Amino acid sequence: MGLTRRTFDAVIVGGGGAGLRAALELARADLKVAVLSKVFPTRSHTVAAQGGVAAALGNSEEDNWHWHMYDTVKGSDYLGDQDAIEFMCRAAPEVVYELEHFGMPFDRLSDGRIYQRPFGGHMQAYGMNPVQRACAAADRTGHAMLHTLYQANVKAHTQFFVEWMALDLIRDREGDVLGVVAMEIETGEVMIFQARATLLATGGAARIFASSTNAFINTGDGLGMVARAGVPLQDMEFFQFHPTGVYGAGVLITEGVRGEGGYLLNKNGERFMERYAPNAKDLASRDVVSRAMATEIKEGRGAGKDGDYILLKLDHLGADVINKRLPGIREISIKFANADPIKEPIPVVPTAHYMMGGIPSNYRGQVVAPRGGNPEEVVRGLHAAGECACVSVHGANRLGCNSLLDLLVFGRAAARQIIDDLRSSPQARKDLPPDAGEMTLARLARLDSQKNGERVADVSAEMRRIMQHHCGVFRFPDLLVEGVKKIKETAARAARTEIQDKSKTFNTARVEALEFDNLVETAVASLISAEARKESRGSHDRADFPKRDDANWLKHTLYYKEGHRLEYKPVHTKPLTVEPFAPKARVY
Ligand SMILES: Cc1cc2nc3c(=O)[nH]c(=O)nc-3n(C[C@H](O)[C@H](O)[C@H](O)COP(=O)(O)OP(=O)(O)OC[C@H]3O[C@@H](n4cnc5c(N)ncnc54)[C@H](O)[C@@H]3O)c2cc1C
Repeated sequence: MGLTRRTFDAVIVGGGGAGLRAALELARADLKVAVLSKVFPTRSHTVAAQGGVAAALGNSEEDNWHWHMYDTVKGSDYLGDQDAIEFMCRAAPEVVYELEHFGMPFDRLSDGRIYQRPFGGHMQAYGMNPVQRACAAADRTGHAMLHTLYQANVKAHTQFFVEWMALDLIRDREGDVLGVVAMEIETGEVMIFQARATLLATGGAARIFASSTNAFINTGDGLGMVARAGVPLQDMEFFQFHPTGVYGAGVLITEGVRGEGGYLLNKNGERFMERYAPNAKDLASRDVVSRAMATEIKEGRGAGKDGDYILLKLDHLGADVINKRLPGIREISIKFANADPIKEPIPVVPTAHYMMGGIPSNYRGQVVAPRGGNPEEVVRGLHAAGECACVSVHGANRLGCNSLLDLLVFGRAAARQIIDDLRSSPQARKDLPPDAGEMTLARLARLDSQKNGERVADVSAEMRRIMQHHCGVFRFPDLLVEGVKKIKETAARAARTEIQDKSKTFNTARVEALEFDNLVETAVASLISAEARKESRGSHDRADFPKRDDANWLKHTLYYKEGHRLEYKPVHTKPLTVEPFAPKARVY
């Protein structure tokens, strides 16, 4: 078997916020680390994050990590693991100050401290009233953060493999992960990256939906790799719909707009959120606002000639605030909605945005899977952080600004665990199994030799239609059952796709076909998990089971590719040091 092999202490798949934060920690510990990325690192989706990163700094008003923890547990609709949530909220101020010291250009208050804005679901004093907790750099926080982390990595001599696509994990007979098989997009060369630690930081997969705020590269590659290697995927029924995607285009309008004082109107000019969330109003959590908007539209109060969108008004903030705090939003609105928000409202609709589920991991960034009676046995050598990981801090619904935080906290934690592992057992690396890379080469050979197959574009359009129609903001039993059948058929078609262009050099058709394998894996897992969960919780809203059912469903879903099998495992209801927050009705 003639694949070239390179060896590292650690290989990180993904150059977004999570991958770069982890890489920095590893490189600073003098480990030999490789970061693989499909795109130049600063083009990862983290660059698009607008609103901010949550941390209870209390710079403008009183705040503390315990309130933040409460909001996150409540926001997760009690499906989040409380040990991990405590870990994240406690670490938040530290990782944000660390980022500040790496050079992050945050907006400032007049006294020089970091500027913070209110964000959905972030409240003072256990849900009393909105609090300024989102640390922001105008409406380009992710851009500032990703560039800061990239520069810090350059300084620390992290080795980047840009435009390399990881295709599969290498797992030996004991189930240990020994690295990845990857393809250089420029040349088509396939190579083995062997490492004692492999960290997946491949980001989200909201591209399974027709209307999405996500970048085209967010194709769930880490999830596909894990599923093919026999590790389950967790809580895949929970996809977040962001309330404010630009009507028609799907591009995101940050919740920061509402944080700065913007609000939603129906066609009658009514501020309808007052009816759905009398206290938090437009700053209720995302699942609540998205459902309210979808209900307004469904009941005939949508704006526009087809009555199918909602208006986001912010002209009352004045040109100064809009130009200073939301310049990117103004640009997006003019470009994609033909509306200048200084003068008129922006037409918006709920749009697929964030994947709460993903690769099952603990708060140390170790990937875990059931084995020998333990529901959370560590998969040795495999780690995950960022949106692809399900820790689970976001449970059934993520609060805005908790993702950038998650990248920093768990990127760092995963790296620290890797450093500990490598230092505590410095034994020789394991040998690769004799068949390393063969599955990948077979997948590539299949694509090259396929005759009379279908076009990737056609099958993937069908997948997006199915997800949008059968597994959207509101979920109906008959549509879910039919959706499962259709998505399985689509997955079967995905195994027979054909590419016309067989060249090796920058073959984007091949890349898209390989990405589609991962997308379809994600979509199947989502629909099957959603059909099975007979309750409504967070972003998962079923017409036939409109209530949360803690007696039967306070548990995490695990989906296995093999046989489309489902298992469940308990939620960690016990925090690390404080008293648990017991489930109660979620009102905003
Ligand atoms: C428009 C938008 C706005 C957002 N705003 C906010 C916000 O204000 N606050 C907040 O907290 N969250 C926000 N989020 C969510 C948050 O930005 C993301 O969840 C987060 O940035 C994901 O970071 P990541 O490091 O996990 O992945 P990404 O930043 O998506 O990076 C993934 C990386 O993996 C690489 N990759 C993927 N597959 C492969 C492969 N097969 N081989 C090699 N490399 C691969 C990619 O090249 C990329 O480098 C927003 C999301 C969107 C879409």
